[in-house]
Amino acid sequence: MSDLPVIPPGSTIGILGGGQLGRMMAMAAAQLGYRCHIYAPEDHSVAAEVSAAFTQAAYEDEAALAAFAADCDVVTYEFENVPVAPLAALGDVPLRAPARALEIAQDRLAEKDFVSELGGSPAPYFTLEDEAGLCAAIEKIGTPGILKTRRDGYDGKGQWRIKQASDADELTVPPLPLIYEGFVKFEAEFSVILVRALDGHIRFWDSAQNDHSGGILSRSTIPAGDTVLAQVPEARKLAAKVAQALDYVGVLTLEFFATADGPVFNEMAPRVHNSGHWTIEGATTSQFENHIRAICGLPLGDCGLRVPGAVMDNLIGTTAEECLPVLDDPSAHLHLYGKGEAREGRKMGHVTRLILHEETE
Ligand code: AMP
Repeated sequence: MSDLPVIPPGSTIGILGGGQLGRMMAMAAAQLGYRCHIYAPEDHSVAAEVSAAFTQAAYEDEAALAAFAADCDVVTYEFENVPVAPLAALGDVPLRAPARALEIAQDRLAEKDFVSELGGSPAPYFTLEDEAGLCAAIEKIGTPGILKTRRDGYDGKGQWRIKQASDADELTVPPLPLIYEGFVKFEAEFSVILVRALDGHIRFWDSAQNDHSGGILSRSTIPAGDTVLAQVPEARKLAAKVAQALDYVGVLTLEFFATADGPVFNEMAPRVHNSGHWTIEGATTSQFENHIRAICGLPLGDCGLRVPGAVMDNLIGTTAEECLPVLDDPSAHLHLYGKGEAREGRKMGHVTRLILHEETE
């Protein structure tokens, strides 16, 4: 173990955000003997249900943040749209991953600029300065393209596809700030998930090949196909540079398009990621456990595969209602997040099926 300060089991980990990522993080923390305190604005938090304490307060409420920090030995987050300025109210309690990672990941422009400076290649992009900006953007970047809100977009929300220039005439331009991106012709999508320890040591999990439906992740497959596997080393190099430049601590995710010209950076998430849920059963140490180990200064666990492969399917909306028969499949692991209403597009749970034997010809 390094001689950097350890936050020992028995301590309290504060988690900003109360959703399923916080829930799975809290379950991993509990296994290591930590207690978790969830901070979220919603009155019902599925993370709080498995945690020791819950503060229900707005992310901007500095008095509530200070009181929360007084109960915590370290604070982390499971949601990347937590407003950054009020986090100063946490005082001396370490925030891991750092606030700078949040700041960058919250703004698609800052994210693309940052990654480009480190040598990464995002899709061509153009920020809209005013309402007329979409025409200028289309002129510069061309079509097809995607208009996106710079902030607060997730799971395909806040995105408008522009197939041809005339589509712009029919679109009521949503409120600024906006960014227009060229549409990437990709062969596959994949993610790089790494964990960086306090001492700077980095480990990577195998990269999943990701399928989306309507902008929402539907399936992650391990191992990825050959096109993706060939592009993972370059993508990892970029992810490591991002982690080092931010002096990052914890789990960091970068999403990529695998194209004929190599990996194109899509976006980063300064947190554990849906495309890493397979690691709970499929890897020696899950992304949740290693995030807890990293932020507490414990040695990292091995990220290697425990099985030849795994397929993770999200249970979205009402699909979760028919999920119990999956329990008859000995290779399947069912996770339900304890959310009430199965609204359209809502992530209710996931199933990971382990591939237990190598395929033989
Ligand atoms: P995002 O929220 O930016 O990750 O977008 C959600 C999904 O929309 C991505 O995973 C892709 O499937 C698709 N998408 C987003 N941006 C682009 C792009 N510039 N070119 C092609 N597909 C995209």
